[in-house]
Amino acid sequence: MMPEIPELTVVERQRRRAMASSLQELGKLARAGTLDEAALDASLGQLAGLGAVHDIDALHIAEDAGDYRAGLVAVMVRIPDGWGRWISCDAGWYRLIADLDAALVALDPDYVVYQVKEKFGTLHFYAETAKVGERAAEFAALITAAEAASGHTCERCGAESAQMCSTGQFSQLYKTLCAGCCEHLQADEGIRYRPIPS
Ligand SMILES: [Zn+2]
Repeated sequence: MMPEIPELTVVERQRRRAMASSLQELGKLARAGTLDEAALDASLGQLAGLGAVHDIDALHIAEDAGDYRAGLVAVMVRIPDGWGRWISCDAGWYRLIADLDAALVALDPDYVVYQVKEKFGTLHFYAETAKVGERAAEFAALITAAEAASGHTCERCGAESAQMCSTGQFSQLYKTLCAGCCEHLQADEGIRYRPIPS
């Protein structure tokens, strides 16, 4: 049985949105090369204030979860207290995560999740099973396969023809993107991702 875990309240949701826009603003200044010490201090102070009252054990359900809401919640309730019940990637990988969870549950209904996030452009799913031997190997193989699939699945829209891209600037960022999302990010957010030649 999974424990009952509360969702974020309206106020917490607003704080989270404020944190996200604060971080976005910080990123913009940094990329534009106009981040001076005063602006950095102001941003960090604001973020610290917003973060202090943030309940990390509440369920942080992404507003763009859509059809994958239940699937994402199923993963987040497996995260122990203190680790932060959220999934840190864009919506294009929600299907991979929900499908992986369904496959892992079939092997071990009591498996534990620690973190699910994008790191260096691909999905990282940190989980643990009490199963041993062949079952443990199967468990690990399912995770490895989903993480590998994220390497050609657009993190924004889920298109499967995606490629690992990078900003190639001083703050080198990596993201697996389809050609269309590459263009969108440049037009909408001013971030210039380009496919990394393989
Ligand atoms: Zn895309």
